[in-house]
Amino acid sequence: MTAEVPMAAPVPANAPAPVLELRGLHVAYGAIEAVKGIDLVVNEGEVVTLLGANGAGKTTTLQAISGLLRPRQGEVRFRDQRIDGIPPHEVVSLGIGHSPEGRRVFPLMSILENLQMGAYRFRRVPKEDLDRVFGLFPVLAQRRSQEAGTLSGGEQQMLAIGRALMGRPSLLLLDEPSMGLAPLIVAQIFDIIREINTQGTTVLLVEQNAAQALKLATRGYVLETGSIVMSAPAPELLSNPRVRAAYLGEAAD
Ligand code: ATP
Repeated sequence: MTAEVPMAAPVPANAPAPVLELRGLHVAYGAIEAVKGIDLVVNEGEVVTLLGANGAGKTTTLQAISGLLRPRQGEVRFRDQRIDGIPPHEVVSLGIGHSPEGRRVFPLMSILENLQMGAYRFRRVPKEDLDRVFGLFPVLAQRRSQEAGTLSGGEQQMLAIGRALMGRPSLLLLDEPSMGLAPLIVAQIFDIIREINTQGTTVLLVEQNAAQALKLATRGYVLETGSIVMSAPAPELLSNPRVRAAYLGEAAD
C-alpha cells in the first residue's frame, strides 16, 4: 500500500528545536516487521500524539525510543544525539520517561516505593520531585503507604505517570494512558497531562482515544500497520474525514 503523507507545513524561522526525531525507523520481531521506516519529530514544548488501531505499531515505536527494543534500521535522535541501541537506564538518565502500556506498577510495593523506583537514577530520592508528583496527584499522597496492586485502574495510571516523572524527564512517553478507564477518569488524566506539559515537559502520547488525544495535542501522526499515513496539526486531523471515519466514529464533536 502506498502511504498518503500530506506535505508538511513550512517551518517558521523561530520554530522550536526538535527534542526527538525518528528517521526511517524500522523495528521487527523476528520476521514480523512491526514498524516500517517511520519519520517523526517532536519539538520542544509540544504534545504530539501517535494514533493508530490495535497492532499498528505504537507501543513498538515507544519501546524503540526508550531502549527496550533495538531498531533494525533507522535512527532515534534525542536532542541531536543518536540514542538507538543505548540501554533503557541510560535513556532514562538522558531525560526520557516512559509510562508503559498497561501501567506496570509494582503491585506489592507501596505507592511511595513505586515512586522511589522511578527516581533510581538519583543517589537520593529528590524531595521536590516527590512533592511535585503528590501535588499533581493528591490521591497518591493520601495513600502513599498503600500497596499499588490495590489501587483502582485510574490511580494505577496516575502512579505510572508519577513514577515516570520521578526520573525528571524533559520528554515523557505515555502509552495509552486512557486504556480501560471511565470517561470521567480519562478527563482527569488528560487534564493532568496538560498540566505536566504546561510545567515544561514535552510529551509524546500514544492513544487509541483519538478524540481526547487530538484535543490535547499540538500535532498528530496516524500509524497504520507500521507506516505513518498522515501527519498534521491536531485541529486538521480532528476535522479530516478519513480520521473521523476511522478513529473518531460517534466520539467526534
Ligand atoms: P496495541 O494498542 O494493541 O498495543 P500497538 O499499535 O501498540 O497496538 P504494537 O503492540 O506495537 O501495536 O504491535 C505491532 C505489531 O507487532 C503487531 O502486529 C503485534 O502483533 C506485533 N508484536 C508486538 N509485540 C510482539 C512480540 N513481542 N512478538 C511478536 N510480535 C509482536
